[in-house]
Amino acid sequence: MQITSKLSSSQTTIFTEMSALATQHNALNLGQGFPDYDPPSALLDLVKDAIDNHKHQYAPMAGVLALREIIAQKVLHAYGQYVNPSTEITITAGATQAIFTAITAFIHADDEVIIFEPAYDCYRPAIQLAGGKSVVYTMEAPDFEINWALLAAMISPKTKMIIINTPHNPTGTILKSDDLLQLSRIVKDTNIIILSDEVYEHLVYDGQSHESVLKYPELYQRSIAIFSFGKTYHCTGWKVGYCIGPEYLMNEIRKVHQWNVFSVNSFVQHALAAFMTDATQYLSLNQFYLQKRDFFLDILQSTRFRPLKSVGTFFQLCDYSDISDIDDVAFAKEMTVKHGVACIPISVFYTDHRQDKLIRFCFAKTDGLLNAAGEKLKLI
Ligand code: PMP
Ligand code: GLN
Repeated sequence: MQITSKLSSSQTTIFTEMSALATQHNALNLGQGFPDYDPPSALLDLVKDAIDNHKHQYAPMAGVLALREIIAQKVLHAYGQYVNPSTEITITAGATQAIFTAITAFIHADDEVIIFEPAYDCYRPAIQLAGGKSVVYTMEAPDFEINWALLAAMISPKTKMIIINTPHNPTGTILKSDDLLQLSRIVKDTNIIILSDEVYEHLVYDGQSHESVLKYPELYQRSIAIFSFGKTYHCTGWKVGYCIGPEYLMNEIRKVHQWNVFSVNSFVQHALAAFMTDATQYLSLNQFYLQKRDFFLDILQSTRFRPLKSVGTFFQLCDYSDISDIDDVAFAKEMTVKHGVACIPISVFYTDHRQDKLIRFCFAKTDGLLNAAGEKLKLI
């Protein structure tokens, strides 16, 4: 029998590939982005309570209401935006599903979606499956800044969506207030939807603040903002996240959500709702990861890697051109197989596979693991 692949150019994600290689060669895994520590014990206790309290049946399609209510409170407090828990928030199976669902809901055949490269890897295939076309704005190392006049020139009558990501994976950069204001001006009086991937909302350093689309009422009117509990509560494997958007957009998202997921894991939602009543955890996350970033930067000082200091996310980019001139995919493999530290090459996040000699380390790791990795990195 013959089939025609809908994603013929898709390969296994670099994250899976590098984690498998790390396991195979017993390397320390600073590649795929996940913590090597557990979620807060109080949250784990609440999960157990939810199980004991029989929270095993379908949650409402949009998510457990108590969870949506506490998210709305958090959004009001953090970003000054009132969002209606009944109509403007949907709980999803991680940010990935929220992104896929939003793209599926709005992108028709031949619509154009502007993405910024290096781009997190799940945007492009979702656009392709929807029949749309990715139009790429390339951000250049080392600053990865956006020239908004150039971006504006890329907009065509077919542009249906612009996907932004701040704090940005894989570069560790952030968008500033001026970026959001310029974007807001550019899309004013158009029918362009903004998909804003903000899964690292709490991981912003050096006195900077996270600029959510939720802070800009004009932008929010045309935006879907995407979040993930995996990053905030050290539980990437639970795959629970949410999206927020004005009712007319959320209605369309829910139409798709109900036919591909319907509703998300119920007991975890109940536990998260109870846990979020205490804001301490997410308010202290910034400090927690700042300490890790600085610890890792200190370690890197005694190596030949040159960090491009991360101001957001739990990723640190490093230039390795003082060490090797082989391409980054080969270098990342060599790092894993020969030197025992897994990392992620950056060229895979660019369509043109440019060769900047950059790799990404994840510093969401215990000091012990970071130290052990540091000992190996010093020898390279
Ligand atoms: N967007 C970005 C930028 C990410 O880094 C990730 C995963 N780390 C996701 C989306 C997906 O999040 P989730 O695991 O909640 O699906
Ligand atoms: N977002 C994680 C990262 O950037 C990986 C998630 C995944 O493996 N799909 O490393």
